[in-house]
Amino acid sequence: MADDRPTRLLAELARAGSGAELMLVTSLVNVRYLTGFTGSNGAAIVGPDTRVFLTDFRYVEQAAAEVDPSFDRQIISGDVFEEAASRLPGGELRLGFEDGAVTVRDHSRLADRLPGRVELVAAGTPVEALRAVKEPEEVQRIAAACELGDAALRELMEAGLAGRTEAAVALALEDAMRRRGASGASFETIVAAGAHGALPHATPRDVEIPAGTLVVIDWGAVLDGYCSDCTRTLATGELTDAAKVTYDLVREAQLAGVDAIGPGVGGRAADGAARSVIEAAGHGDHFGHSLGHGVGLEVHERPRLSHRSSDTLVAGNVVSCEPGVYLPGELGVRIEDLCVVTPSGCEILTHVPKELLTVG
Ligand code: ZN
Ligand code: ZN
Repeated sequence: MADDRPTRLLAELARAGSGAELMLVTSLVNVRYLTGFTGSNGAAIVGPDTRVFLTDFRYVEQAAAEVDPSFDRQIISGDVFEEAASRLPGGELRLGFEDGAVTVRDHSRLADRLPGRVELVAAGTPVEALRAVKEPEEVQRIAAACELGDAALRELMEAGLAGRTEAAVALALEDAMRRRGASGASFETIVAAGAHGALPHATPRDVEIPAGTLVVIDWGAVLDGYCSDCTRTLATGELTDAAKVTYDLVREAQLAGVDAIGPGVGGRAADGAARSVIEAAGHGDHFGHSLGHGVGLEVHERPRLSHRSSDTLVAGNVVSCEPGVYLPGELGVRIEDLCVVTPSGCEILTHVPKELLTVG
């Protein structure tokens, strides 16, 4: 218990300096992280001598099974924001709320019911800060989701891509993940051939993938609550020299990014390590997104690897490394791995090869 997640939340609250002594956690993914609860209505109040979990009657049994027994489980009949106000400890206190997640309406619901002795404090996102540093067991779960995603892509590659529509390939990939035990895709699968691949967030179309083109596939599985995220750009036959050169450039940048990722490295510096390779080749303008993002219970979380990032990597971060070059009207290439930061560098969790792979 000394170093459990609620205890670490209080340390993070003190470190962040908002002045909050207690934290009302209402974002469901954060409630899950703190308490173990996976249902769709719940909240947690965490303070030095307070651990309260709130949910409604539908989740009595689920809460009993899932919620960490250090929490006092309380069944409420109304809205969590309305009910939280009456379940606080006595005395003067400053109650933090998640200002990035609470709506203005919920904030007033809560504020309207708080006694005068309670001050409501915007406390930022302290649970997200904890979630950025994974416990070994969380890394194992993410690694398992990556392994599942890898296997699903291998199945897809065996079946070939040319002649199938982007939408059919995306569906087949999601189906392959589900058959392997994923609860779903961690985001909408991207399958984008040829010039369509120049859109970093392309939506799969009902358009057949031709032979002799590049296909960007960005996919992820949710397994046991944890996400994977990976991108490979596959060839469907002989490519133009220009396409091969672009592929090699992105691969070189991706390897430079992975090389840079390690403890003590700034998110900005990691981004710069990959970006400088692309810039040196004159394609800086064709790499319009950031290098990477944290992945865990959510597919986009902290820390960020970008030229605006103020994050510094620490062991236990799980981040993507995903440079891309997008040539409008021609093609796109992106290569993405998930990496866990280790005490000495990083370890890659996604294992589909990154050499240019040609499938039928
Ligand atoms: Zn991705
Ligand atoms: Zn990603």
